[in-house]
Amino acid sequence: MAKDLYEILGVSKGATEEEIKKAYRKLAIQYHPDRFATASDSEKKNADAKFKEINHAYEVLTNQQKRANYDQYGSEDGPQHGFGGGARGEGGGFSGFEDILSSFFGGGAGNGFGTKRNPNAPRQGEDIHVKINLTFEEAYSGVSKTLRLNREEVCATCGGSGAKDAHSIRTCTYCNGSGVVQKTQQSIFGQQVVQAVCSNCGGKGKIIDEKCAVCKGNGFARKEANIKVNIPAGVDNGVTMTVRNEGHCGRNGGARGNLVMAVGVSASQKYRRVGNDLYLDLAIGFYEAACGSEIVLDTLKGEAKCKIPECTQSGTKIRLKGYGMKVLQKETYGDLYVIVKVETPKNLTAKQMKLLKEFEDSLSESQYPQIKKIKKSGKFGKDK
Ligand SMILES: [Zn+2]
Ligand SMILES: [Zn+2]
Repeated sequence: MAKDLYEILGVSKGATEEEIKKAYRKLAIQYHPDRFATASDSEKKNADAKFKEINHAYEVLTNQQKRANYDQYGSEDGPQHGFGGGARGEGGGFSGFEDILSSFFGGGAGNGFGTKRNPNAPRQGEDIHVKINLTFEEAYSGVSKTLRLNREEVCATCGGSGAKDAHSIRTCTYCNGSGVVQKTQQSIFGQQVVQAVCSNCGGKGKIIDEKCAVCKGNGFARKEANIKVNIPAGVDNGVTMTVRNEGHCGRNGGARGNLVMAVGVSASQKYRRVGNDLYLDLAIGFYEAACGSEIVLDTLKGEAKCKIPECTQSGTKIRLKGYGMKVLQKETYGDLYVIVKVETPKNLTAKQMKLLKEFEDSLSESQYPQIKKIKKSGKFGKDK
């Protein structure tokens, strides 16, 4: 069972931030690794554990949100769901330590507390960011693209070691391969022995006598890679998609970074997209609008029959279910809305006009309610 964070710092549950800082500072000085540089291994280990513990307690209790979570749920991360929730933030307390104690150490970070990140630890590679432009049709149907990437790859010649061969690598004699050296320095505790990154090997613990000619000792090199990516159907303009483990190679055997794609979709000449639905303007004649019709439409899904009912007004919205955009990651589609626009014929002959006049005069008030009403009132047009 984890120890109580207030107990670790020796403060009450209602302690103010000032009290917490004060208690922390006292303990941090007491258990600071610098004081144990010449102690036995087991003493070092105990002090290190204690130091981590107080740093963690300090980090949680001086963060309002984390403290509130801890008080309420017994965990700085709030309510726990299954495993792994509580592990975050470990070892993150050194910033607080440096804030408070930097005045004692004349700047803090550079003095090699012995808690620095191991330069030989596996590290994940960098992410590669690319922009992908798709046509509207490609976004509809999904598409696979081959991307040409200039990626960092582990050097095949040296296997990432950066050395010409195994004989070219030797253990650093300054630090005996540990990457750190003990150094004497003045501090508030008097003369202190502290750990510092070995300047001879740069903390690697190894010296390379003859570098790999291919990568010049880096252990990695840029290489062109053709990566096939599948863009799923239904993707929209502005989304970001991540392909895991297709980024730059990791260091020291770490995993690759990711490939992060910003997707751009060009606008369609024909459709307007709203969510997964599509909108389409459709011109029909007065005859079709009045008498009804069935029109065959060329949609993204292929031909579709669009039924125009009798007496369809301009602006009427007709829904074609399932003829919209594919819904991303699902086997369903949005709808297509056809917006009817009745086209008024142009350049009519006198004969055509006469026919239309005759036709209009033949309409009863119930057939043409709004227009007949307006004409009757005399506010609209004028009968000859
Ligand atoms: Zn190499
Ligand atoms: Zn060294």
